[in-house]
Amino acid sequence: MIIGCHVGMSSPEYLLGSCKEATSYNANTFMFYTGAPQNSIRTDLKYLKIEEARQYLKEHNIDIENVVVHAPYLINLANCEDVEKLNLSMNLLDTEVKRTLAIGTKYLVLHPGCSLKADKNVAIKQVSNCLNTIIDNNPGIVILIETMAGKGSEIGINFNEIKTIIDGVNNKDAIGVCLDTCHINDAGYDLTKIDDLLDEFDNIIGLNKLKVCHINDSKNERGAHKDRHENIGYGTIGFDNLCSFIYNKRLEGKIFILETPWVQCVRKDVYQYVAYPPYKFEIEMIRNRKFNENLEKDIDELYNK
Ligand SMILES: [Zn+2]
Repeated sequence: MIIGCHVGMSSPEYLLGSCKEATSYNANTFMFYTGAPQNSIRTDLKYLKIEEARQYLKEHNIDIENVVVHAPYLINLANCEDVEKLNLSMNLLDTEVKRTLAIGTKYLVLHPGCSLKADKNVAIKQVSNCLNTIIDNNPGIVILIETMAGKGSEIGINFNEIKTIIDGVNNKDAIGVCLDTCHINDAGYDLTKIDDLLDEFDNIIGLNKLKVCHINDSKNERGAHKDRHENIGYGTIGFDNLCSFIYNKRLEGKIFILETPWVQCVRKDVYQYVAYPPYKFEIEMIRNRKFNENLEKDIDELYNK
């Protein structure tokens, strides 16, 4: 099973630090942002310790091709109203694509964006056109359109919309999908019926286009259009349904990435809450297919010293 989680990337070890963080959770892949997701400030590639990170991955038998980059949130290729903002989005995405390729991986997860006041079909067409430009300029990249929960004017909130984006992209090898279990639950898909869900995905988009799955439970009921991630087995989707998804034969070989929230523990010395990562224990519960009802306690014992 290829399973990992979102990890940080920061000074002083940057990408090498991300790799170490991932292996500390017993992950065999990971996902990261090449800089803060909410701004466009980026540390120069020469400081990221890319060579050291590649060496580390090799020593730990992790295939760098399975490592995933997430594009910053502020990119909105569906903005049809503000040319200046669209150009900023294009420039930022182009930078991210180049950084992804320089690091030596190929999968870049992208939120398809928000149509704002524009007609949805027009916005979707514009996203495909923008992607064509980016892809033509950057051979080797594979952009994965993420399934969205349906907040506000988001596009990509059902398989048909994502299929329409893909249809508009000329180079089909350079485009794929990242399916987020929390987002599709919140968008209205039923995760108690995994086979029907995968049939629908396969009929509309094709499961060969699915490269990465974000595995998250949801704080909200199906169809809530909210997008608030919950720890594995602690939300409305539930542990058994998430496992039925992960362990489905048709998803064998896909890359699974957790983006669940850090867990708050009380620091006795300072009498305040401090958050710690749940991933080591969540990956363990998924690998063992056994729910851990003591997640908070285990995290507290491991990290809160
Ligand atoms: Zn995302």
